Amino acid sequence: MSETKVKILDRTFKVMIPAEQIDQAVSRVAEQLNRDYSNTETTPVVVSVLSGAFMFLADISRKLTFNHEISFLKISSYSGTKSTGKIREELGLNTDIKGRDVIIIEDIVDTGISMHYLMDYLRGFSPKSVEACTLFFKPGNYRGTEEIKYRAMEIGNEFIVGYGLDYDQLGRNLKDIYVVCEE
Ligand code: 5GP
Ligand code: MG
Repeated sequence: MSETKVKILDRTFKVMIPAEQIDQAVSRVAEQLNRDYSNTETTPVVVSVLSGAFMFLADISRKLTFNHEISFLKISSYSGTKSTGKIREELGLNTDIKGRDVIIIEDIVDTGISMHYLMDYLRGFSPKSVEACTLFFKPGNYRGTEEIKYRAMEIGNEFIVGYGLDYDQLGRNLKDIYVVCEE
């Protein structure tokens, strides 16, 4: 049984989505990918975005039944609980994706700025296709035009932590998803 409340730095958080529910959502989206990518001509590349998506990647890749390569990228846009709107690339792509199907694995799509940046960046390497797969989607904040084809869960505009997502680099280890308590 996990703690229902945790304190991280100056804030108290409470459980919003228990681990079992996350697991079910991950399984559902993995099934969609298994249907869509089981008969591709070339081996798909799963590009995961560090650091927030590491836990989602670990869980979803074990549910994928087609052969796939795994590669990492690192960008950052957040500082504290607010998106800065500016993207910094911290680790570039080191896999040849030319002519291949690419699936981006992200923790959360909020305004969509990061995902747009990533899709444009990856298209620059001439892949056959690029699709976005996110664990969380915030429809109320999304300002993008790209289709986010694979979304495990939709949430409101609240700031969440846990399951890879951080509050100032902390809380990534929590197995449930937490939200700030109103006090
Ligand atoms: P966007 O560029 O879509 O506005 O933001 C995307 C990035 O901001 C995500 O990849 C994630 O790192 C961070 N982010 C957005 N919303 C949240 C949230 O509720 N909690 C945490 N911890 N990070 C978030
Ligand atoms: Mg992220």
